[in-house]
Amino acid sequence: LFLTFEGGDGVGKTTQAAILEEWLTARGRSVVRTREPGGTEVGVLVRDIVLHHRGEVAARAEALLYAADRAQHIETVVRPALERGDVVIQDRYIDSSVAYQGAGRILGRDEVRDLSLWATGGLLPDLTVLLDLDPARARERLEADDKPFDRLEAEKSVFHDRVREEFLALAASEPERFLVLDAARAASDLATDIQGRVQALQGG
Ligand code: C5P
Ligand code: MG
Repeated sequence: LFLTFEGGDGVGKTTQAAILEEWLTARGRSVVRTREPGGTEVGVLVRDIVLHHRGEVAARAEALLYAADRAQHIETVVRPALERGDVVIQDRYIDSSVAYQGAGRILGRDEVRDLSLWATGGLLPDLTVLLDLDPARARERLEADDKPFDRLEAEKSVFHDRVREEFLALAASEPERFLVLDAARAASDLATDIQGRVQALQGG
């Protein structure tokens, strides 16, 4: 079972991924919780480039770096875990690239998606939870919690609005794969909805 969490910065993906991991583990499932960018040793190096040298990296180079991180991660971590029968819970995947690089950086949705599919040998999640939130709200929440919100600060709000719209468009185009939730709701309520969907996927 391959489960991914998507959405803009500060919507609560990491929090929900952690709650779901605990829930599945308590039910006897073997879980690998991981993330992109930075889910492997090589990926940590790539994450450093894309996050800390952002101003120097050309848009196409950025897209290729995310794809390289993903190729390494899927081949060395995710596919082996899925082959063992583990549940993989992943923070960000292909949809983040389509939203941030494809729509945000205007590189083209189809091109970026094809690049990712090439990088992963066409691996798509069984379920993608999209946590949807107005980027301005996300920023306020991060600020209130004393959490860093550098990305929300570094990019113009139109960039984040494009990213959000693209996530919603992706979800609308693949309604079976996506569960879209209003991330302004209480974390415990969101967790309950996510658990219900995962339970259904596992066959009750
Ligand atoms: O979710 P996480 O904190 O790991 O993401 C790191 C940063 O990378 C975020 O600020 C996000 O906006 C950015 N990112 C991106 N393009 C992607 C994935 C993440 O710009 N494809
Ligand atoms: Mg996070």
